[in-house]
Amino acid sequence: MPAAIDSSVRVTYFSYMQNKSNGASHLSSMAVRSHNRRVLLQLLRTGDLSRRELAQTSGLSPAAVTNVVAELIDDGLVLDVAPESRLTKLGRPSTNVALAADEHFVLAAQIGAGVLQVGVIDMASHVLASELVDFPLPAEPEEVMDLAVVMLKRVMETAGVNPSKALGLGVGAAGLVDAEARINLNSQNLGWSNVHMADYFEHALDIDVVVDHNVRAMAAGESRYGAGQGLESIVFVYIRSGVGAGLILGGSEYRGGTHGAAEIGHMRVVPGGEHCNCGGHGCLETVINDRVIRARMVELGILASHPAPDDHSWTTIFVERVEAGDERAIALRDEIVQYVASALLNIINLLNPQLIVLGGLLFDLSPVIVDELRRTIPGQVLPLLRDSIRIEPSHFGSDAGMIGAATVALDRFVFGPPILNLARAL
Ligand SMILES: [Zn+2]
Repeated sequence: MPAAIDSSVRVTYFSYMQNKSNGASHLSSMAVRSHNRRVLLQLLRTGDLSRRELAQTSGLSPAAVTNVVAELIDDGLVLDVAPESRLTKLGRPSTNVALAADEHFVLAAQIGAGVLQVGVIDMASHVLASELVDFPLPAEPEEVMDLAVVMLKRVMETAGVNPSKALGLGVGAAGLVDAEARINLNSQNLGWSNVHMADYFEHALDIDVVVDHNVRAMAAGESRYGAGQGLESIVFVYIRSGVGAGLILGGSEYRGGTHGAAEIGHMRVVPGGEHCNCGGHGCLETVINDRVIRARMVELGILASHPAPDDHSWTTIFVERVEAGDERAIALRDEIVQYVASALLNIINLLNPQLIVLGGLLFDLSPVIVDELRRTIPGQVLPLLRDSIRIEPSHFGSDAGMIGAATVALDRFVFGPPILNLARAL
C-alpha cells in the first residue's frame, strides 16, 4: 500500500484522539490499543488479510499487528484461517486473519409504520435467521416492543445461537431519533413520541442496545456491505407510508442539526399542491407514498379494489402491468418518476452524491422506474455532474432496514465509528 495512505490513517487517528480527549495531549496506552483494535477490525470487515497486509495497510508496525491480533483472537473476535491459494516459499500455507464471524452475532430490529422485522446477523453481516410481521395501526409502543422481544428470542433459537454470544442489539426506528439519548422522539406514522427504546430492550433482553433512525441505518448498511461499499457519499431514499432519507457524507452518517432529520419528503414537488401535515403544500410525501399510489391504481382501474394494508402484492401487479404495456400503468409510472426525479434533482444539485440508493416502495418498483430515472435526471442537472450520477436499487431490498439496524450495532459494539480514509485504503 502507498505510504500516503498510512500517513492519512495516522492523521485521522490523532484528530480522533484529540477530539476524544477534549484537546488533552496525553494519549493513554489503553486508548491507543483500543484504536489499533478498531483499525484492524475495520480492515477485516470485508475479508481476510495476512498480518503483513494488515501492517502495510494500517501503518502499524508488524509487532503491533501481531500483539493486537493475538488479543483479538483471545477475545474470540478474529481467528487464523488458511487461505486456499497462498503458499510460502517453503510450500507451507501462510495464515490469514479473518473475523470469527460464527463466534459472535448481533441482533437487529427494524420498527417501521405497521411492519416489524428482526434478525440474528453474524459479524460478517450474514443473516442467520429473521422474522417479519405486519402489525395493525394504531399500536402502542410497548405492544410492538414486546412482540419484538418475543420474536428476537425465537430467531435466536431458530439460528441455533447461544444468547450469551450476542454483542448487542441495533434498533432502526421510524421518525426522529435522538441517537445519543437512544430515544425515538417522534414518529408521525406510528403516532409515537418520546419512546425510550434502548431502556426497554436493555431491560427485557439484558443486552447493550443502540437506537438510530431507520433510513440512516439503511444508508450505513449499504455503505459498509451493500451498493455503496468504498464510497464516501451516499443518499438512501426510502418511501413507504412516508418518505425519508439517510445520508453518508465523508464516509460517515450525517447527523444534521438538532434532530438529524433529512426530511426530503417535505421537498416541494407540486407548486400550490395538496396540504401536507408539515404545514406546507405540494410536498413529495403528499404525492408519493404507498397509500397514494394504491389509491391512484384503483382510480385508474389498474386495481379492481383497495387491497388490505398487509397485502403487498399490488407493487408486483403494478410492475407486471407496466411491463405488459398497460397505458394506465405506464402513465402512473411516469407520474411517479417525475415526482421522484424532482426530489432527486435537488439532492444531486445540493450534495452531488456518488450514489443514490432506492429503498422501500422505490425498491419494489425498481424494475420499471430505475432506468426511467437514469434517463430523465441527467438532462436536468448541471452538465459537470451528469456523468457522476449513479442510481441503484438497494442491495438488501426488503431486508435493508434489518441489515441497517445490524450495521449500527456492529459499528457500535465491534468496529467503532468509521475511520476516514481507511475505506479508500482497502
Ligand atoms: Zn410536508
